[in-house]
Amino acid sequence: MLLMGWMQLSLIHDNNLPHGYTVLLPYLPYILLIAGLGIAWMFSTAREFNFLLMIAIVYWALEHYFWLMPKGFNRSLFSVGVLLLVPINIGLHYLLKERGILSWHGGLRTLVFPLLLGLLIWACQSHPAALAEFIYYKPAWIHWSFNSHLPFPVLFAIGVTGMALLVHWLHSHRLLVAGNLMALIALTLTFYNIKDWQDSILFLSTASFAILLALLLNSYGLAFLDELTGLPTRRALKLQLMSLGRRYSIVMVDIDHFKKLNDTYGHDVGDQVLRMVAAQLRKVTGGGKAFRYGGEEFTLLFSGKNSHEAASHADKLRELIADTPFTLRGHKRPKQKPEKPLSSKERPSVSVTVSMGVAEKGPDHETPMDVMKSADEFLYQAKHAGRNRVRYPR
Ligand code: GH3
Ligand code: MG
Ligand code: MG
Repeated sequence: MLLMGWMQLSLIHDNNLPHGYTVLLPYLPYILLIAGLGIAWMFSTAREFNFLLMIAIVYWALEHYFWLMPKGFNRSLFSVGVLLLVPINIGLHYLLKERGILSWHGGLRTLVFPLLLGLLIWACQSHPAALAEFIYYKPAWIHWSFNSHLPFPVLFAIGVTGMALLVHWLHSHRLLVAGNLMALIALTLTFYNIKDWQDSILFLSTASFAILLALLLNSYGLAFLDELTGLPTRRALKLQLMSLGRRYSIVMVDIDHFKKLNDTYGHDVGDQVLRMVAAQLRKVTGGGKAFRYGGEEFTLLFSGKNSHEAASHADKLRELIADTPFTLRGHKRPKQKPEKPLSSKERPSVSVTVSMGVAEKGPDHETPMDVMKSADEFLYQAKHAGRNRVRYPR
C-alpha cells in the first residue's frame, strides 16, 4: 500500500499523469474518507471512525485552515503541532474501550481530537514561545540532527504509538490494528513530505485506504470466520461447495459426549476444548479444509479425493485428537494455594474423542447437500458403533 503511494508520487513527478487524474487528486482523500466513515459507521467501530475523522480534519486544517489564519499566526508551529497530535490521538483512542459510535461514550470520544486541536490553536495564538520550546525540544543526549520538520517529540510520539500498535497486533492478530499501524506509517510519510503538500495528499489517501481496507477485510472475517475457533464458518463452506469439481468428499466430524463434558466442567472448558479440537483439525493433510459447521460439529472438505482417501486423512486426525490430552487451564483451582505451582503433568486433563462420517460425490449423491447428508448418516453409524471412529462407504 505504501508502495502504491510511492508509485503514484513518482508518476506525478514525472508528469505522466493524465489531466483528469490531477484534477481528481485533491478529492481522492475525501472519496476514501467518506467510504471509510460509512463502513466504520455501519460496523459501529468508533476507533476507526475517529481515526478517519482525524485524517479528514488534518487534511482540511492543513489545506484550508492554514491560509485563513490571521497574519502573524505561526503556521509552521501549527503544522508541526498537528503532527504531534496525530500519534497522541491514536494512542488515546486505543486506551479508550470500544463501545460503538452512537452512545455517550462514542460521542465523548469524537470530541477528543477536536479538543486537542482547539488546545493547539489556543496555544499557537496565546503562548507561541512556550509551545515552540515544547514542540522543538531536543534532549541533550541527542547529538545527531533530525530532519528539521520532524522534531524529537513528534518522532518520539510516533515511535511509542507505533511500537504499541505493533505489539498489540502481534498479540491479537487483529486486522484493524494492522490497518491502523499502516495508517500511522502512511501519516508519518505524509509528515515527512509536508513541505510538498501535493505529495502528501497521496499519503493521506493511503492512510485512509489502509483503514478502509482493514475495515473491509475485517467485515469479511466477521461474516466468514468463526469467532471462537477461527475456522471458516458454515457460510464459507456453502460458498466453497458451489465451486467444487467433479470429484470431492465431505467428512462430518462430531465431538463425542460433548454435552457431558460441558455439564461436568462448564461451558468455558467446553469452549476451550472446541478451540483445541479446531486447532488439530486445521492440521488436516491431503489438501483437506476444515470448517466449523456449528456447535460441536465440524466439516472437512476434500476436493479431488474419493471417500477412501478422505477417510484415511480423517482417521489420522481422529487418532491425533484421541492421543492429545487436553490440559485444562484454570479449572478447579484448589481453595488453598499450593506450596508450589502445579506442573503441567499435575494439572487436570480430559481426553476428547471425535466420530466422523465420510461420503463422496457419486451417482447416488449428486449435489453437495446429498453428499453431506450421506456423510451425516455414516457419522451416525460411527456413533452407534461405539464412537471414536471413522465410518465411510466400503
Ligand atoms: P454425541 O457423542 O452423541 O455427539 O453426544 P454429544 O453430547 O456430543 O451431543 P449433543 O448433540 O447431545 O450435545 C452437543 C452439545 O454441544 C450441546 C451444547 O450445549 C454443546 N455446544 C454447542 N455449541 C457449543 C459452544 O459453542 N460452546 C460450548 N461450550 N458448548 C456448545
Ligand atoms: Mg452434535
Ligand atoms: Mg457430539
